[in-house]
Amino acid sequence: MSALPSPLSLSANGVSLGVHFFCTVRGNPGTQLHTLQPYLARMPAPHLVSVARATIVVVEKLPGGRPTGGGFFTSFLDWMGRERKTGIPDSFFAFRPRCHIIAITRRAFDDADTRPFTFFHESAHCIHRSYPIYPHGATFRDYAGIRYTRSNAVEEYAAETYSRYIVNPRRIARVGEVPIGQSMQECTRRLIEQLMASPAGRHFRQMNQRGSDADGDISPMPYEYPW
Ligand SMILES: [Zn+2]
Repeated sequence: MSALPSPLSLSANGVSLGVHFFCTVRGNPGTQLHTLQPYLARMPAPHLVSVARATIVVVEKLPGGRPTGGGFFTSFLDWMGRERKTGIPDSFFAFRPRCHIIAITRRAFDDADTRPFTFFHESAHCIHRSYPIYPHGATFRDYAGIRYTRSNAVEEYAAETYSRYIVNPRRIARVGEVPIGQSMQECTRRLIEQLMASPAGRHFRQMNQRGSDADGDISPMPYEYPW
């Protein structure tokens, strides 16, 4: 690769984020990226700031070679010497030695349904470094209703909850995962409460507060309970 691509930008709530494409995506990358805009607008500014500080990339494969989903990395060291997989030359990271990296694979980006869930799941890991996304002492067992199969790490369940709260707040719980005796709605409500009880949840509560305090034409944020 000769010249490094310049990032495409998106902004919401006064914060602008740049996304670097290191692969060819289906359709127009700017147009596809803009499908994330309405969801970004649901995020509190402090969360957007922590995402905006990360380096966000769309790549063919993650440094380990996985071509699906996304990844969050706290260090560029995982990316060095991996240009053949990721398409990103080492020189790109020379300017970003201390940045967190949010990576979305081309396959996840190309799929309109998967794109936002992947983007906000990886963003949640990034936000977690500034504002924890689960309450102190929580375990994966507190997230019954969430589907995540790759590990029992509470952070993964909390990142799924965060992502689904942003993208599809009426259906955070998944069919087939809801504990016996609970309705889908009760389960989703419990998952929202779990997020709201976290340090990151405080920002959503403040955002809701401002929404409902506003008079006139500012409609309340849809993020109290979405029913
Ligand atoms: Zn994850």
